[in-house]
Amino acid sequence: MSKRPNELTIEEAASLLRTRELTVRELWDACAAAAEARNPELNAYLEIFDADDSAIASAQERINAGDAPLLCGIPLAIKDNILIEGHIASAASKMLENYRATYDATVIRKLKEAGALFVGRTNMDEFAMGSSTEHSAYGPTRNPYDTARVPGGSSGGSAAAVAAHLCIAALGTDTGGSIRQPAALTGLVGLKPTYGAVSRSGAIAMGSSLDQIGPLAKTTDDARILYDAIRGIDPLDSTTIPDDLYPVRVATEKLAIGVPRHLLETGVDADVRAAFDATLAELESAGHALVDIELPTSLHALAAYYVLMPAEVSANLARLDGIRYGHAARGKTLLDDYLLSRTEGFGEETRRRILLGTFVLSSGYIDAYYRKADAARGVLRREYEEAFESCDVVAFPTTTSPAFLFGEKSDPISMYLEDIFTVTANLTGMPAVSVPMDTVEREGKILPVGIHFTAPHQAEQSLFVVASAVEKAR
Ligand code: GLN
Repeated sequence: MSKRPNELTIEEAASLLRTRELTVRELWDACAAAAEARNPELNAYLEIFDADDSAIASAQERINAGDAPLLCGIPLAIKDNILIEGHIASAASKMLENYRATYDATVIRKLKEAGALFVGRTNMDEFAMGSSTEHSAYGPTRNPYDTARVPGGSSGGSAAAVAAHLCIAALGTDTGGSIRQPAALTGLVGLKPTYGAVSRSGAIAMGSSLDQIGPLAKTTDDARILYDAIRGIDPLDSTTIPDDLYPVRVATEKLAIGVPRHLLETGVDADVRAAFDATLAELESAGHALVDIELPTSLHALAAYYVLMPAEVSANLARLDGIRYGHAARGKTLLDDYLLSRTEGFGEETRRRILLGTFVLSSGYIDAYYRKADAARGVLRREYEEAFESCDVVAFPTTTSPAFLFGEKSDPISMYLEDIFTVTANLTGMPAVSVPMDTVEREGKILPVGIHFTAPHQAEQSLFVVASAVEKAR
């Protein structure tokens, strides 16, 4: 075996487990040892779990019996805002430092049923708000490609854990890009499924109309395996959808790729732009068609997102008041209790968004801000639906630049701009993927960059086809 077990993909590990060249215990030990060795430097995990001997043994038995699902015995990392019964789920916040989950998220229940193992819970921006993992209450995660740089966010811990081979694959959540952007900055495949494809039951809510759980993986095939394992309608989440809710165009081997060139003229680093153009040219020579499209409202997507998302954040986090559960501080009056608990429990970025969200929902401003942004959401969706009349997927670079340095985007607006190409898929509910397209150099370090594709609702299959095509072209 040339690769160490923790360096394998899901597919490779599953195959070696079945040919008896690898045992579940060996695979677990390799991941756990790598996690213990590398985590002090990377801070990818907030907690590395002890080996679950009975889960390891029963996974091995199922594999021996010959009818185990592909994920059986595969060690995964789980973002700290997804509940695993009996484990702390803090959303990287001081507010939930001691909150222990009393039930499994639906995705965790499904993974347990498939026989998957959990290496630990991964670091993130507090309550998933951020693009760098610098907003964690427990210190930032470092990018394995250059530890002076961020791994992206908010699922930066999951991304670093997979990229550094401290697990085989991971789950993240994506409200405005939090799976796809860290995937791009750490050389991984990251999928944000169609809204409603994956149950949110047991995911700590950020923006409920935008949030989706999805995979961060080393390959497109691995992302598909994880996605297939976690998807499906769930009575515990009324926003989950049946498989055939949308009439989906059958994905063919050759796709029409829509490129909104007018949106890429400014703001994208020259070498990232060059990598994007080269990747598209390779796809074209592999037989895919490039189609020019226009998405004029996309220019306003980021503004709409940063009105709608904080509005939902302010509502979702209202329950963390120091009385019901979470960090509790006591003052002289009940109002003091609320103020103290929330001021101590929440970090600066979280408080900024609660204030923003409360403002845009307040009676004098709801028409001017919230309702306008909500209307923009409908326009964006129609614009994409029209674009999909002439193409199967829409392509963008995932980010305008590779991983940035710690502190480089301390101004909130510059951090928000990191999400410019990713938020639209959350606003429209459409599925989107980031796949590695190339590397660029910064200060002597080689850094990965990703290409991003959006597909119509429930057309994940088209994303897998185009993402695999990018992998083959590289
Ligand atoms: N970076 C975006 C934000 O800060 C997206 C976060 C996410 O997808 N959870 O809101």
